Amino acid sequence: MGSIELKGIEKWFGELQVIKGIDLTIADGEFIIFVGPSGCGKSTLLRMIGGLEETSRGAIFIDGKDVTDQPPAQRGLTMVFQSYALYPHMSVRDNMGFSLKTAGAPKAEIDEKVDEAAQILKLEPYLDRRPKALSGGQRQRVAIGRSIVRNPTAFLFDEPLSNLDAALRVEMRYEITKLHRELSTTMLYVTHDQVEAMTLADRIVVLDAGFIAQVGTPKELYETPANLFVAQFIGSPK
Ligand code: ADP
Ligand code: MG
Repeated sequence: MGSIELKGIEKWFGELQVIKGIDLTIADGEFIIFVGPSGCGKSTLLRMIGGLEETSRGAIFIDGKDVTDQPPAQRGLTMVFQSYALYPHMSVRDNMGFSLKTAGAPKAEIDEKVDEAAQILKLEPYLDRRPKALSGGQRQRVAIGRSIVRNPTAFLFDEPLSNLDAALRVEMRYEITKLHRELSTTMLYVTHDQVEAMTLADRIVVLDAGFIAQVGTPKELYETPANLFVAQFIGSPK
């Protein structure tokens, strides 16, 4: 399960309102992409859903349960950032298993889950290496692997590919599509890259200064943009 519902959520940083009343229902297994210009509130919104940022007003439901005031660990979600935040002194295997170890899982179970994730991500040959002996793409896979082992209800990605070069981005885009197909887990993904949005998303949410400008499939947004802002952002001919 992994349905997520946002009801009238707002975020204020002091006097500054950054998220301005967002309503959105995400179905279990959907791949949702948030796009919009820099500073429009994408990261803040994702962090609110993940519980890393308090919600000023409104409510967030996961599988029908109100999690608005719950800490991140109790939401069953996992976040993958553009800075991979791997532990440099640990092997790939230990990086991937760390959260399970912290949670007190037995070694045999950790090994099994790490092996499974390594197989999905083609990281088996690198399990004994340190992060510094990996390429950028491999490091990003380890960061994703760390999330997979936790069996999350949903993955939250904040511009996970923006530190990679163009060729690697294309490759990782394909890997993430494959991952979504294999796991069928709900994915919420922030990007400012239109191509990424159009190729990965089941539905795209276009944000404009804290509002939802439009929600729709890539085809809907391309063919019938709600306004000029969406048309310009998606790059449709209108
Ligand atoms: P995006 O990810 O779309 O680029 P952000 O969610 O990072 O946008 O930021 C949205 C707005 O909120 C920006 O104006 C940013 O300066 C502001 N903001 C983000 N975090 C904070 C914070 N901790 N304190 C004050 N303002 C913040
Ligand atoms: Mg951001």
